Amino acid sequence: KLSARLQHIADRLSPGCRLADIGSDHALLPVYAVQNGRASFAVAGEVNDGPLEAAKRQVAEAGESKRVSVRKGDGLAVVEPGEVDAITIAGMGGALIASILEAGKDKLAGVKRLVLQPNVGEDIVRSWLIANGWYLSEEIILEEDGKIYEILTAETGPDAAKLNDQLYSERTISGSTVSLTKDLLLLMGPHLTDSKDEVWFAKWRSEIDKLDKIRQSVATSKQESSREKEESLNQLSNRLKEVL
Ligand code: SAM
Repeated sequence: KLSARLQHIADRLSPGCRLADIGSDHALLPVYAVQNGRASFAVAGEVNDGPLEAAKRQVAEAGESKRVSVRKGDGLAVVEPGEVDAITIAGMGGALIASILEAGKDKLAGVKRLVLQPNVGEDIVRSWLIANGWYLSEEIILEEDGKIYEILTAETGPDAAKLNDQLYSERTISGSTVSLTKDLLLLMGPHLTDSKDEVWFAKWRSEIDKLDKIRQSVATSKQESSREKEESLNQLSNRLKEVL
């Protein structure tokens, strides 16, 4: 049985897709996907030997060596152009996910859907998507074992720029005068901001607490650069409080 996090990622694949799961570790997701009709074929990519061996074992034990190809390599280097139409990258930082997509741009022609689960730095992923002709078709947030995860589903098409303009257009929250500017929407997620999920509120309340703690520790320093940092942390914290 998959964790709730991986299950949500699997649920976002179009049935029968050709999948590349990059940074697959135990290859749990691709094995589940081919065994449950989510994918007809999958590549499990891994750059590190330990997880690569775990993936190979898992695929062999599941008897799925024909439908799941375990390959060693950095990011999208493990797939041929046109080989897959869906890519999942989960359980790493947003900066790493964006750099994997950036370095593998030539492999994205023909890819219809990206399902991405950054552990941190979601805004970096959102910015990369906008800059590269992808739009968010869905965002979900969930809590499992005391951790909060965001899953971003992105699609591409001729209307991507127009859809992004709508998604990130500055807006006010009903009953409030607070303006949600593009930088806040990149940080907090345009769909998540609109849906105001309870887990989303919990995440941002805890982020505000973290910011306030950092701000207090910075405030005791007399350095000019620290004062600037405190001021920017203060601003962000206050803006987030207004949104919530
Ligand atoms: N995707 C799985 C999940 O969400 O449960 C595993 C996540 S695990 C925390 C991250 C995996 O990404 C590790 O196994 C690591 O070896 C792999 N990884 C990190 N950088 C990578 C890269 N550039 N290319 C391929 N795999 C990478």
